[in-house]
Amino acid sequence: MIKFLDLQAINLQHKDEIEEQLLKVFRSGWYISGTEVKNFENNLAAFVGVNHAIGVANGLDAIRLIFKAYLQLGVMEEGDEVIIPANTFIASVLAVSDNRLTPVFVEPDIETYNIDISKIEEKITPKTKAILLVHLYGRVVFSEALIALAKKYNLKIVEDNAQAIGATWNGIKTGALADVAAFSFYPGKNLGALGDAGAVTTNDAVLAARIRAIANYGSSKKYINDVMGVNSRLDEIQAAVLHVKLKYLQHENEARQKIASHYIQAIGNDKITLPQMPVNTAEHVWHLFVVRCEKRDELQTYLEDNGIQTLIHYPVPPHLQQAYQSFNHLHFPITEKIHKEVLSLPISSLLTADEMKTITDTLNRF
Ligand SMILES: *Cc1c(COP(=O)(O)O)cnc(C)c1O
Repeated sequence: MIKFLDLQAINLQHKDEIEEQLLKVFRSGWYISGTEVKNFENNLAAFVGVNHAIGVANGLDAIRLIFKAYLQLGVMEEGDEVIIPANTFIASVLAVSDNRLTPVFVEPDIETYNIDISKIEEKITPKTKAILLVHLYGRVVFSEALIALAKKYNLKIVEDNAQAIGATWNGIKTGALADVAAFSFYPGKNLGALGDAGAVTTNDAVLAARIRAIANYGSSKKYINDVMGVNSRLDEIQAAVLHVKLKYLQHENEARQKIASHYIQAIGNDKITLPQMPVNTAEHVWHLFVVRCEKRDELQTYLEDNGIQTLIHYPVPPHLQQAYQSFNHLHFPITEKIHKEVLSLPISSLLTADEMKTITDTLNRF
């Protein structure tokens, strides 16, 4: 069986370095808010090209904390609206609604699977305070028009950068494109920890300080609580592992880009729609390689029968989930089509030439 993603093999590439770090933290006796977190935050900020990085417990919390801080700082208030792509992972939506803000869905572009920037303005109301961008599947979404729109209506742009760490737009890294960004280091992400982990990056010092305080019980000094907070900290073990793996991220992304261009060049089957290579200045780091097929379920079974594991990102769009019954009456035809037809092929950076040949040959025979 060709696995969708062989996390064990990916992490064993750095066996000695990671084991040394795990042992070091274990023996240090210091497990929360120590030098490992500080070092990783500094490295991440330098990598992304921003002044502040704050390690947090996971990617969902990273987005939640951003909006919580904006609410506390008076930039937004409960009931305000946040523009969000209709086809995103549920976490982006949960982070908004959990803060009693209202998600306002916008259809994606069927070519890029990212939010259709030309459809944002018609959804803006006096209550709109932010646009939550999601660089879905690893492909950057950003434009001059978007910057102009945010200026015109005084909107914050928040990046959900869970899937596109290391990608660039006009040479600027995701996470540094807008006002503030959220990262997830869930094990399966391009930069994955050995458990849950996340981060926020920004150049806004006031926002950074507030997020750091909220993530640590609302306190900047132990047992002195300036604001109401939560416990959402990155721990020393995950930070130490991420510190090792960040060094290899560029290499990981390049390997994924090679596999993607190979797939695009070697798969030719008119029943299967391939993702497009980015044409302009927006990069793709291929967190997922997503094809579309009208007979998606049949294709998935066929690949499974031929020893190829695939996944669906995602089978049900947020507005049709049971958890969001108040949105179930909404209709987003492009989003719904995408959810019915998408299938993610294996894209581990360790796929061998033989495995890739099996995958492309099998797809071409479907
Ligand atoms: C993974 C992911 C998240 C959430 O990250 P966790 O670390 O799992 O909480 C948020 N948004 C997107 C787009 C994701 O892919």
